[in-house]
Amino acid sequence: MHEVSIAQGLIEIAIDNCKKQGYKNIDSIKVKIGKASGIVSDSLLFAFEALKTGTIAEKANLNIEQIPVSGFCDICNKNFTVDEAYVIACPICGGSSFKVETGRELNIDEIEVSR
Ligand SMILES: [Zn+2]
Repeated sequence: MHEVSIAQGLIEIAIDNCKKQGYKNIDSIKVKIGKASGIVSDSLLFAFEALKTGTIAEKANLNIEQIPVSGFCDICNKNFTVDEAYVIACPICGGSSFKVETGRELNIDEIEVSR
């Protein structure tokens, strides 16, 4: 499962950061995940809960912010956002010449730590 290795990576980065700053506990990790990233939030949460046990992230909450898929259309020159995880055509003019600008991200936004 894809989400397990992502959760593992998140925990490792958070632990690394926490230790470098001289802190002992991770309180929360906030991530931004694009809808088009293919990552299932529930699976990621599940994997995170399982993997954090026994680490300094044991008490940490994983907060996931979903980023919608948006893009810019070259035909009508407008920005658009869609509810789906993919874009087939510009929702404004129906054109097929567009750039997807958000929705693929997987970023750590914030790591809260304490002593
Ligand atoms: Zn358009």
